[in-house]
Amino acid sequence: MPSILALNTGSSTVKFGAFETARGALTSVMRGRIEFHGPGRRVLSLDTDGVVLTEAPWVDRGRDTAPDLLRWVEARLTRPVAAVGHRVVHGGPDFSQAVVASEAVLDSLAVLTPLAPLHQQQGLAGVQALRNAYPDLPQVVAFDTAFHGGHEPVVDRLGLPRGWEAKGLRRYGFHGLSYESVAEQLATLDPSTATGRVVTAHLGSGASLCALRDGRSVDSTMGATPLDGLVMGTRCGSLDPGVVLYLQQVAGLDAAELVDLLYRRSGLLGISGLSDDIRVLLESDSLAAREAVDLFVYRAAREVATLAGGLEGLDGLVFTAGIGENSPRIREKICARLAWLGVELDPAANSRGTGRLSAAGSPVTVWMIRTDEERMIARHASRLLGLDR
Ligand code: ADP
Repeated sequence: MPSILALNTGSSTVKFGAFETARGALTSVMRGRIEFHGPGRRVLSLDTDGVVLTEAPWVDRGRDTAPDLLRWVEARLTRPVAAVGHRVVHGGPDFSQAVVASEAVLDSLAVLTPLAPLHQQQGLAGVQALRNAYPDLPQVVAFDTAFHGGHEPVVDRLGLPRGWEAKGLRRYGFHGLSYESVAEQLATLDPSTATGRVVTAHLGSGASLCALRDGRSVDSTMGATPLDGLVMGTRCGSLDPGVVLYLQQVAGLDAAELVDLLYRRSGLLGISGLSDDIRVLLESDSLAAREAVDLFVYRAAREVATLAGGLEGLDGLVFTAGIGENSPRIREKICARLAWLGVELDPAANSRGTGRLSAAGSPVTVWMIRTDEERMIARHASRLLGLDR
C-alpha cells in the first residue's frame, strides 16, 4: 500500500497530509503544518479535528522546506512516500485538471505568476526543490482553478476587448480543492441539499464564495486572480478598476508597490490598522477594528446574495476554512444579513459549531464542514499515477 504526501504551501504555513492508498480508498495516516510566523518556526502534527498532537521547533532552510519535510514525514511513517502532490493556485487556461509535474509543465505554470503573485511561486518552489533533491520521485500538481473549469463562458467573461480573453484574461475562481472537498462531504451528510443550489463560503486568510449546483461549481467570487471578490485578511477584494488607475496615475505607485498594497496591506489589516486576524479584531475595542469586521461581513453577505441571484435561489449555505469553521460570531453576523433569503441559524448549533447549524424548518440549510484540501491533493495524485488500484 503506497503512501502519498500532499503539500499545501501558503505564505505563512505549509499544511501537509500523508495518506495510504489502495483500491480507490485513501486513508489518512498523518497530518500537520509548519508555521513560519507566530511564536517561532515550528512543526505541528494534528488530529482530524485540527487539534495539536505534537509540536517541535522547525529549522527553516528557506526554499528547501519540501525535501526537509518529506524526510521528517518519512521518518514517522511505516511505508516510504511513493509520490508527492502539491497545491498550485493557478492552472491558467491550459490545465483544467491535475497533471504530473514535468519541467515543461512547471515552465508554463511559472508564466502565470503575475496572476497570483503571492501564491504561484510558493507552490512551484516546493515542486522544484523536490525535483532537485529526488529527481525520480513522481510529483503531481493539483490546481485551485480546476474545480471551476465547468463554468458557462458568460460567467467567466470579462468586459474587456475579446483579444484579451484569447490571451488567458478571464475569470477562473480559486480555492477549488477546498470546494471539491466540501461538496463531496456535503453529498454524504445532506444529499438533498447537495443536489440543489448551494453557496460555500471559504473564509480563511484568503476568502471566497463558490456557487454550486448539484455539487459542481457554477460561479465564484474570485476571478482572474485571487484578489477579486471578498475583503480578505490582507487583500482588498473587488475594487473599481478606476481606483487602480488612480493609484498609478495620481499616487505614482509602480507595479511592485501596487502588488504590495493590494495583496499585503489591504483588507482587514489595512482597514483596521491593527491585524489581519479576525480574532484580534473581534476582541478589540477600536472603531477601526469594528469597521473592518463590518465590511468583511457586509461584503460576504452581499456576495452570497449575488451568487444566489445567479443560482436563482438558495437551498444551502456552507461555512468552511479558518474563520468559517471556527467563528460562531462571524457566521452569525453573516447569516443575520441573509434572513430575508431564508437563512435561519439555530443559535445553540452555531455556538457548538459542528455539522448542521440551521434552525429546524429554515428554508436554507446551513452547515459547517471542515475542508480537507490535502485529501483532495492526494486523491488527484493517486488517481493520476494509478496508485489507487
Ligand atoms: P489559509 O487561507 O492560510 O489556509 P485558514 O483557512 O487556515 O487560512 O484560516 C486562517 C485564518 O482563520 C486566520 O487568519 C484566522 O483569522 C482565522 N481563524 C482561525 N481560528 C479562528 C477562530 N477560532 N475564530 C476566528 N477566526 C479564526
